[in-house]
Amino acid sequence: MTTVYNFSAGPSALPKDVLKKAQEELVNYKNSGMSVMELSHRSGLFSEIMDDAEALIRELMEIPDNYKVLFLQGGASTQFAMAPMNLLTGSKKADYVITGSWSQKAYQEAQKYGDIRLIGDSEGEVLSHIPKITKDQVDPEADYVHITTNNTIEGTTFHDIPDTGDVPIVADMSSNILSRPMDVSQFGLIYAGAQKNIGPAGLTLVIVRDDLIGHAPDWVPTMLDYKIHAEKKSVYNTPPAFSIYMAKLVFEWLRDEVGGLYEMEKRNQQKAELLYQTIEQSALFKTTVEKEDRSWMNVPFVSVDDDKELEATFIKEAKEEGLETLKGHRSVGGMRASIYNAMPYEGVKKLAEFIEAFEKKHR
Ligand code: PMP
Repeated sequence: MTTVYNFSAGPSALPKDVLKKAQEELVNYKNSGMSVMELSHRSGLFSEIMDDAEALIRELMEIPDNYKVLFLQGGASTQFAMAPMNLLTGSKKADYVITGSWSQKAYQEAQKYGDIRLIGDSEGEVLSHIPKITKDQVDPEADYVHITTNNTIEGTTFHDIPDTGDVPIVADMSSNILSRPMDVSQFGLIYAGAQKNIGPAGLTLVIVRDDLIGHAPDWVPTMLDYKIHAEKKSVYNTPPAFSIYMAKLVFEWLRDEVGGLYEMEKRNQQKAELLYQTIEQSALFKTTVEKEDRSWMNVPFVSVDDDKELEATFIKEAKEEGLETLKGHRSVGGMRASIYNAMPYEGVKKLAEFIEAFEKKHR
C-alpha cells in the first residue's frame, strides 16, 4: 500500500510510533489485563498516567511552578467562554486581536461576559497578515489581552508575542502548541484543543498562572471554574482518560524520539521552508499569506489564476498518491497542507515533489 501522508488540519496525523505503542498496550496495559479505556480514573495506574503527562509537558515547555496544568474537555471552543468567565473579574474589560475565524469566535463569545474591545485586526477579505500590537494600544486596566498564536484556517502566525506590559495574555495555541519553544511566562493563560499537536480530540489543555484563578463569580458553573479543576488535579469528574494517555505518549515521543522542542522547531522550520519554497517557485500556485507572518503549521495555497478546476484536479491526483486531506478551508479555498509535529519531513518532500510533477503535467 502507498504510504499515506495526512495533511488534515485537525484531528490530524499522530506520530506512527505513538500509534504503535498504543496498539501494543491496547488490550493489556502494563499487565493489568485491562485497557487504559477501562481503568478507573481514580486507580493507581491511571493516576500515574496523569502525573507523567503533567510532568512531561512541564519539562517540554519549561512551565514555571506558578502555573497550573489542567486536562479539561469541551475543546478550545469552551475556552472561548471559560477564559472570560474566570478572568473578567477586575475591570471586566478585555482587549482582543482578531487574526482569523477562530479569534473572531473567541471575541464574539467573550462579549457575553464583559466589555470587550478590538485592538487589532487582520483586515481584508483574506486575512493574510498579523497586525502589529504595541503596548500603548493595550488598555492598562484590561483584565487580559486575547490572541490566537496560530491561525489554522488562514495560515498566519505570531512569530513574536506582543508586549502587553502588565496585562496578561490569554493565548489560543490550539494549532501551534509544542511546535517550538515558547516562553510560558509571557502568558497568563494558554489553551489548546488537543487534536493537532497533542493527541486525539476530547482533551483540552490549559496552562494558567496561579494568581489568575480563584476569582470566578458565583454564577460560573462548577465545571467551568479553573479553580475546581486545579484543586482536584483535573479529576473533579471523569477526565478524557484515553486522550490523556495518548497525549502522554506524544509527550514521550517529543522528548525521547524528537529530542525536545528546540529540535522540533528545527524540523518544523525545515518542513515549512521546503513547502513555501516549492510553492513560491511554482507557476501554477501561490501562497495566500505575507511572508513574515507565515505559519509553520498550516500552509494554504491557491491557483494563481483562481482556476477551481485545476485545484480540484490537484486534490484528486494528490490523493491518488497518498497525499490526503489537502482541500483548503471553504473560506480560503484552494489547498491547505497542515504540517504539524507528526508530519515527517518525507511527507512534505513527497508533497513538494508532487507539486513539481503536477506542474510539468498541467502547464
Ligand atoms: N482555535 C483554533 C486556533 C483552532 O484551530 C480550533 C479548531 N480547529 C479551535 C479553536 C476550536 O477547537 P475545538 O474544536 O477544540 O473547540
